[in-house]
Amino acid sequence: MGKRVIVVGGDAAGMSAASQARRANPGLEVVVLERGHHVSYGACGIPALIAGDIAAPEALVALTPPAVAARGIELRTDCEVVELRPAARQVVVRGGGTWRYDYLVLATGAAAVRPAWAGENPANVVTVRSLQDGIDLRRWVDSAGGRRAVVIGAGPLGLELAEALARRGVDVSLVARAKQLLSGFEAPDVEAVTAALTAVGVRPLLGRTVASLRCAAGRVAAVVTDQGEVGADLVVLALGVRPASELAARAGLPLGAAGGLVVNDRMRTATPGVFAAGDCVEVPHVVTGERVFAPLALTANRTGRVAGDNLAADSLGRASSQRFRGTAGSLIAQVAGFTIAGVGLNAAQATAAGFTVAVLSREYHSRAAYYPGGRPLRLRIVVDRHTRRLLGAQMVGEEGVAGRIDVFAAALHGRLTVDDVYHLDLPYSPPYGPVYDPVIDICGRASLEL
Ligand SMILES: Cc1cc2nc3c(=O)[nH]c(=O)nc-3n(C[C@H](O)[C@H](O)[C@H](O)COP(=O)(O)OP(=O)(O)OC[C@H]3O[C@@H](n4cnc5c(N)ncnc54)[C@H](O)[C@@H]3O)c2cc1C
Repeated sequence: MGKRVIVVGGDAAGMSAASQARRANPGLEVVVLERGHHVSYGACGIPALIAGDIAAPEALVALTPPAVAARGIELRTDCEVVELRPAARQVVVRGGGTWRYDYLVLATGAAAVRPAWAGENPANVVTVRSLQDGIDLRRWVDSAGGRRAVVIGAGPLGLELAEALARRGVDVSLVARAKQLLSGFEAPDVEAVTAALTAVGVRPLLGRTVASLRCAAGRVAAVVTDQGEVGADLVVLALGVRPASELAARAGLPLGAAGGLVVNDRMRTATPGVFAAGDCVEVPHVVTGERVFAPLALTANRTGRVAGDNLAADSLGRASSQRFRGTAGSLIAQVAGFTIAGVGLNAAQATAAGFTVAVLSREYHSRAAYYPGGRPLRLRIVVDRHTRRLLGAQMVGEEGVAGRIDVFAAALHGRLTVDDVYHLDLPYSPPYGPVYDPVIDICGRASLEL
């Protein structure tokens, strides 16, 4: 056997790294160590699993263990790495076994934020991070058990989960400290989303701070907020995630300001032979150049592939052409019939980053005005007044968001100005938009007004 690659973590980043390493150098011995039962699954589909839109969890699994084996990758599930020994090029797994490596890929992902008031282990306080979490929540919904859920957190995941539960007939309260849903968006842009979410049965309880959980017989009976109690059979915490970087930190690998592992654009850490990828690392933002924590699926897959390609090239004594070029923090989500999407910086983030910001916002139609079936589309762009460069865009609507937001993501990567985007030749036909598409129109207005 040739050199050995150990990958810690078998989801998006880890399995991408393992697969690419084997593709690029079939002579490598590649071993994936995963502490859970499942590998290579689409966590992003979990809300649809809970809603019942996806019938069975198996549908979310991209690579089954036999498919992993067919790629020439050795997979060990239920195998947690508890210690790294970089000086000896070894990892230690729970139970005491050790594995030697020539190359190590850390792909340990992110962990759900669990505040101190959530307690250690009440059975009915859950986070949704792994496929197993999704299976457990789906089982709770399918059973005749409790019927009242309190979702805490009004970001995209909190909203997706709240809607999924409500659509299954669960009485859902959505508690958040912010006074609006989706605090990264401007309030007027998400008013219609709030109304639509309420119409599917979610009760938004916004502007409330959670103080504690009231327990009875080891289970939470109510969420205690600064404005009274909310009864609960189940509490779902959707308060964001943080990089799962403790294992690496204990071994002395440096962390960045956001708590993620520090890597270069080849996903190499400063420790010889050690790469890292996915939600556990910090990556550069294409607008600011700052290193940020951007826990998103494409970034995880892509950084994994970059790590795998670079370590394979290194093992063959050459350099890889694959480098990670940065994140635009691009997100898109479907909530109660609306699509919400954002790329780059919002106005507050751009101002905090030191830009002199101009914001343009406007309501458009998703189709030509005369063409039947069009829906309102809210669009907001953030522009650097000095250079006229686009810094970010946000869009909310019932149709025509996906696709249009992609133009802005491309513009951010290309460092395009509003003038550049105004002059793009985007395709036109009435069912898809006005002749001056909203993307072109808003940049045209900026081009003329700024
Ligand atoms: C419900 C949900 C919905 C989402 N929706 C979207 C979406 O719509 N769009 C989007 O872009 N992103 C979405 N995401 C985020 C996306 O899924 C993540 O960015 C992606 O899964 C990160 O992949 P990863 O491999 O870096 O980490 P993870 O998926 O967290 O995988 C890390 C793996 O490492 C294992 N591991 C950790 N420590 C150890 C150890 N010590 N030993 C062995 N194994 C270990 C874990 O068990 C885990 O399997 C969503 C996430 C969730 C949970």
